Amino acid sequence: MKQNEAGDVIYRKNYTAYPWNVKHLDLHFDIGAETTTVHAQMEFQQKNDDHGPQDIVLNGSDLQLVSLKLNDRILGKDDYIVDGEQLTIRDAPAKSVLKTEVLIHPAANTALEGLYLSGEFLLTQCEAQGFRKITWFPDRPDVMTTYRVTLEADKSEFPVLLSNGNETNRGDLPDQRHWVSWEDPFPKPAYLFALVAGDLALVQDHFTTRSGRVVTLKIYVEAENLDRCEHAMESLINAMRWDEDRFDLEYDLDVYHIIATNDFNMGAMENKSLNIFNSKYVLARPDTATDVDYQGIEGVIGHEYFHNWTGNRVTCQDWFQLTLKEGLTVFRDEEFSADMQSRAVKRIQVIRDLRIRQFPEDDGPMAHPIRPDQYVEINNFYTATVYQKGAAIIRMYHTLLGESGFQKGMKLYFARHDGQAVSCDDFLAAMEDANNTSLERFARWYSQSGTPQVTVTDHYDATARTYTLTLEQSTPRTSDQLEKQPLVLPFELALLTAAGDELPLQLEGEAGNAATSRLLIVEDARQEYIFTNIPEAPVPSLFRDFSAPVKIYYDYSKQQLATLIKHDSDAYVRWDAAQRMSANAILEQCQRRADGLVMQLDADLVEAFRGVLSDQQADPALLAEAITLPDEDYLADQMKVVDVDGIHAARLFIRKGLAVGLETLFADHYAGLNDGAAYQKSALAMARRSLKNICLSYLLETESGEALATSQIQFSDNMTDTLAAIRGLIFIDSTQADTALSDFERKWIDDTLVMDKWFIMQAIKPGLNTVNKVRDLMQHPAFSIKNPNKVRALIGVFAMLNPTGFHAADGSGYKFHADRVIELDPINPQIAARMAAAFNRWKRYDEGRKVLMKAELQRISSVAMLSGDVTEIVAKALR
Ligand SMILES: [Zn+2]
Repeated sequence: MKQNEAGDVIYRKNYTAYPWNVKHLDLHFDIGAETTTVHAQMEFQQKNDDHGPQDIVLNGSDLQLVSLKLNDRILGKDDYIVDGEQLTIRDAPAKSVLKTEVLIHPAANTALEGLYLSGEFLLTQCEAQGFRKITWFPDRPDVMTTYRVTLEADKSEFPVLLSNGNETNRGDLPDQRHWVSWEDPFPKPAYLFALVAGDLALVQDHFTTRSGRVVTLKIYVEAENLDRCEHAMESLINAMRWDEDRFDLEYDLDVYHIIATNDFNMGAMENKSLNIFNSKYVLARPDTATDVDYQGIEGVIGHEYFHNWTGNRVTCQDWFQLTLKEGLTVFRDEEFSADMQSRAVKRIQVIRDLRIRQFPEDDGPMAHPIRPDQYVEINNFYTATVYQKGAAIIRMYHTLLGESGFQKGMKLYFARHDGQAVSCDDFLAAMEDANNTSLERFARWYSQSGTPQVTVTDHYDATARTYTLTLEQSTPRTSDQLEKQPLVLPFELALLTAAGDELPLQLEGEAGNAATSRLLIVEDARQEYIFTNIPEAPVPSLFRDFSAPVKIYYDYSKQQLATLIKHDSDAYVRWDAAQRMSANAILEQCQRRADGLVMQLDADLVEAFRGVLSDQQADPALLAEAITLPDEDYLADQMKVVDVDGIHAARLFIRKGLAVGLETLFADHYAGLNDGAAYQKSALAMARRSLKNICLSYLLETESGEALATSQIQFSDNMTDTLAAIRGLIFIDSTQADTALSDFERKWIDDTLVMDKWFIMQAIKPGLNTVNKVRDLMQHPAFSIKNPNKVRALIGVFAMLNPTGFHAADGSGYKFHADRVIELDPINPQIAARMAAAFNRWKRYDEGRKVLMKAELQRISSVAMLSGDVTEIVAKALR
């Protein structure tokens, strides 16, 4: 079990460089599932030769030490000290060769860090600090070295033996054993080390880089999954080409491996040339994976590939700089997906994700800047803030500097730092120097937590024909930080007439300016802009393309929102206006319900939706986004005290009202889109399916829906349509739902990835009975508490995506969930900590629920031997 016994806080300001260079690392693994022997040989050289003998400090965890030799002398108990996860060798000479032998036990490793067993094969996960579970080594990202790895194993049990870099040699040994050697010429930190050993099947292709290097591409999966790799391979080839075209970056080795595993704590891992993936992000066939899965695979394959430069060739000095590689690489994968699919739809998905996942983080006990100043357990900082907000901040560089300025900065960044472990300051400096500009104030985004709020007010002077726009920004205090400063906000703006035309934007004192969309830079707490020659009171189109990750407050009238929904050329503003109108309507009804009044349907909302649905020109995927009502979590975020049941009831009421009011339109769309054409993977086909299935979800609120859904299941040739229809039937509590679920179960019982969907569909069902259903499903043979995908599908979905179930007023959801956190902690503390975070925002609920949640948090915190991971989350929540 992973323990951070001391629960020590680690501070960014205490960073000191490692005093030794590690010139080279030789690893030899004698592979066995129960016990693996690891021999390591590392050459240490003091950075400062004049220093004289000096201690060497190494990290290790759960290692059974067999022997330790320094310059060929066997070290006795008096020559070194082991203290927790540190081993200190006293007074080592300026040049020292250290040889170690340790035993590790992969099959007993349920934390899925270090070397572990997945099904029939062995694999590693080392980020952030898993390498210390493999052998003693300075396990920190700023210690980079070259690796030579030899893997030795039984030939029939482990025919495939992989590590980073290029294969250099292989041979047979007596007793049906064999060995393979790998060499990675690029120095790397230990967190990028990987090995895989087992009986895996292979899909192979190749890619020729722009400079003519032929790269062999290999995807390894369990044999039964060989027919589900095509999309992953195509995505990899697209990603390699895209990185050349857009970023001028080429791949640098002769081989690139992807391995799919069902047992993985995260999405995927960018180990140099040996990416290890959660099978969810590799395996897809139209009948087993949804369109969302296909898009997820493309995005994650791209993400891990792009890390080869942003993360691997240039890595992080310490873990506080995690966003240096993650924010930048998420930005790159977002851009990749935008270039592959619809840019507008991708952008909306990214913005929605940021609002639902990251904004609440800023508002809770885990608030931290994208570059945190302290942590107890780094695994708890793989957060939406570091990743998604980090990417939003990289996007602002891009907005401020433009594509060519941004690319100049990237070029300088690589020219300066290739092969180094650097900090976010180095990235910022490269952007500054390449563009000959100062980003000093912009740098505050790295150190300030919280979501800035921008309040916009305006005044139109009909006589002077001027329009004054005032922006006031402030960032509310967060749990980690009281003082806040104004931030640099790129502010993209347009002004629309009531008829929907964009006006030329001429600021007071400027000569003629015909631009109708402008980028302004807000830097101060309060800033005023006066536009001249404005013929009528305009409708402001604010922060177009979501040009800064802020909460925008402007008191739009319904009429103004209708204008934006109908006419704005900016897809984000259009979508956001529809979301605002829906959110306002739902929250109004929520309030009426709380006041004991009858809920009423807003006729303007129906008309706005009618307008959207009647737009024949629009991308169907954008229409689908526009008519999707805001999530319950997003609505909860708009309330001072969350009314769980009120939000659910009001959202349902509005949904029903829209369904009945626009039934003909939904039905026409559905009929047109449900044309019986065979499945296609194209972006257009996906867009059509997304609109079709949103229409179906509304129609399910009417008489005709049940029959449509049942027939859709019967004739479906793809998982997207099947799943949408079954979920719809479950949601309306149809009698057909049980049949559909048992048919689904019968068909897919042996398919672990598809069965995750079966669990999700049931865990997400609103209502008080779901907790019992979830508890029963934990006994299902396809469920395992040791498998993170299963835990996320059943337990995670229930706690995070089922507000009426989890927040049941009697506390049954809380109690069930706390029990799971306690059960999971000794098995897999990383996953337990993720689950514990479901309680993070307990203070936002009514008194009754607050008391219940707090009691469960206290119950978790009182468990003996609680991991550092969970302790940090729970302690912060209770503070
Ligand atoms: Zn990443």
